[in-house]
Amino acid sequence: MTAEHAAFMPDVPSLLAGDDTLTDPELPVARSLAQLEAMVKRELDLVRYPIKSWVLPKIAPDGSRAFDVVIVGGGQSGLATAFGLKRERVDHILLLDENPPGQEGPWGTYGRMRTLRSEKYVGGMDLGIPSLSIRAWFEAQYGFRAWEAMAKLPKQLWARYLAWYRRVLDLPVRNAARLAGFRPDANGLIALDVATPDGMQTLWCRKLVFATGIEGNGTRNILPFIAALPRHLWAHTHDTVDFAKLAGKRVGVIGGAASAFDNAASAAEAGAAEVHLFHRRAELNPANPVAWGQFNGFLAHFADLPIEVRWRFTNHIHSFKPAPPAETFDRVASLPNLTRHAGVSWTDARAAGDEVVIEATDGTHRFDLVILGTGYILDVTLRDEMRPHADLIALWRDAYTPPEHEQNPNLARAPYLGSHFEFQEKRPGEAPWLRSVFNFSRGAQLSMGTMAIGLSGIKFGVPRLVHGVCRQLFVEDADLFQDGMKVWQASDAVTEK
Ligand SMILES: Cc1cc2nc3c(=O)[nH]c(=O)nc-3n(C[C@H](O)[C@H](O)[C@H](O)COP(=O)(O)OP(=O)(O)OC[C@H]3O[C@@H](n4cnc5c(N)ncnc54)[C@H](O)[C@@H]3O)c2cc1C
Repeated sequence: MTAEHAAFMPDVPSLLAGDDTLTDPELPVARSLAQLEAMVKRELDLVRYPIKSWVLPKIAPDGSRAFDVVIVGGGQSGLATAFGLKRERVDHILLLDENPPGQEGPWGTYGRMRTLRSEKYVGGMDLGIPSLSIRAWFEAQYGFRAWEAMAKLPKQLWARYLAWYRRVLDLPVRNAARLAGFRPDANGLIALDVATPDGMQTLWCRKLVFATGIEGNGTRNILPFIAALPRHLWAHTHDTVDFAKLAGKRVGVIGGAASAFDNAASAAEAGAAEVHLFHRRAELNPANPVAWGQFNGFLAHFADLPIEVRWRFTNHIHSFKPAPPAETFDRVASLPNLTRHAGVSWTDARAAGDEVVIEATDGTHRFDLVILGTGYILDVTLRDEMRPHADLIALWRDAYTPPEHEQNPNLARAPYLGSHFEFQEKRPGEAPWLRSVFNFSRGAQLSMGTMAIGLSGIKFGVPRLVHGVCRQLFVEDADLFQDGMKVWQASDAVTEK
């Protein structure tokens, strides 16, 4: 690496330290949420051009107006996408989330870290409106000095910020509504089967966006010998776990990434008698490619790279298997009832009464519960709502054959997306409607880079997605818009001026 390259390796904290416009307490700030909300209104008003709603209404088979866009997932990506669409005056939209309010995504549920793992200055939900930023929201309530003093954002604050964002922007989220299926329908619409507490409902939309998060294009990865055990003896880190019930118990956790560490720490902090954390690699790699990739070129333009370069990048990123952040390591290291078994794998398991016997490469262990931090499998055939169309969706293995030394079957199953997150058909002409379905979920990484997989990408990913949706909504109706222009030209609205 040249000295010039070494100097460029993005080190954001030190870059920010040199810029005092970011840290001047004399600059005008809101001193309460009420003031901040007034600022949000004002700033949105200042940049509101153009203000016309423009998407042409389409009538659904039941006589209602079909939604312009339905977004599946009410987490941060879904919320930011809804805001992005509203700013472009796409007004007839709906978000669906299978969870109750406040339990969308990991922050109030299976995320067992104390703080966000990313640095506090990583933002983007604001889509360029300063008063909507996490920092503005935080400072309005706790002040500038508290922001300066805080190392990382507590996860509860992030969840509260998302709830505020949803409220202040009046985003139309329907909770306890799970998309169970979708299919092409009359007039170019997409019919959606939505499971609700009142039973199954059918809705119609023109464009469908999946913002379904880390599990959105697949499922939890469960070791086969664990899957064979009675269900009460094991959990995945994504599952609900009643940690209070683990007091006095023996818990085994497997996995070398942050979630395994956070689950082990949560069990130990809840008073488990012993917690044993196992990970295959003896040395965990401190290099985190997401941190490296936090610069505009990579975040905004990964998707513009040639196919073989995107493959090479992502394949390399996946080989990193980064270690948990330093504070997660410290949390684990501080707990006397938690033992780490580095460089150890599990090879088999069996149930013996109410305990699990684990065979590991360092011997036999007995636990009351085992927790799998084994991540996720990328495979759209494992998603109920996508399975019926799985054979129509183009995957990377349909589009690109990597050289022998770069093979990666997990990545090869990723959807091969178009330049704005849209699914593409596997065989031309068989399912052109799939281009109306956009995939802003974890499985987008190979096609789009980090834009859809975390906070650092939202600033770039959401505008790109919104651009793609709006482009289709306009271009598909070009003839109708032209007819409308002729009617307008001949109307009083013109001659009166
Ligand atoms: C434990 C954990 C910690 C993380 N920490 C960070 C971090 O610090 N910084 C960072 O940048 N990234 C982090 N990430 C990565 C990423 O930011 C999160 O996964 C984030 O939640 C992604 O937001 P999202 O809106 O895309 O998905 P989610 O927040 O997962 O929201 C998707 C929603 O869609 C719902 N859903 C899925 N399928 C359906 C369906 N068929 N019908 C209805 N609803 C459905 C889900 O239940 C969920 O509520 C973390 C991820 C995890 C798992």
